[in-house]
Amino acid sequence: MTKYHDIYRAALAKWGEEAQFDQAVEECAELIAALKHFKRDKVGQQQIVDELADVALMVGQLSFMLGEDRVEKAIESKLSKLKGLLASDNLAE
Ligand SMILES: [Mg+2]
Repeated sequence: MTKYHDIYRAALAKWGEEAQFDQAVEECAELIAALKHFKRDKVGQQQIVDELADVALMVGQLSFMLGEDRVEKAIESKLSKLKGLLASDNLAE
């Protein structure tokens, strides 16, 4: 999201590209662990929300670095494929 560009730019300048990729991996791993714990009632919804926020920010950071337009095009392509799958499932029912 454009409104976070200043902070994405500052984080990139301060810590560098490699650290951003490493941080994204770490945040994804934390979300995975939280989801596993949530499934076993070890954590509440707020922890999932917090980890989702971390991952969303890192997705924003990496999208900023790699090109938000490219990511948006990939999302649209994948949504189009999903719509096709859903439509074919509806026809089969
Ligand atoms: Mg986290």
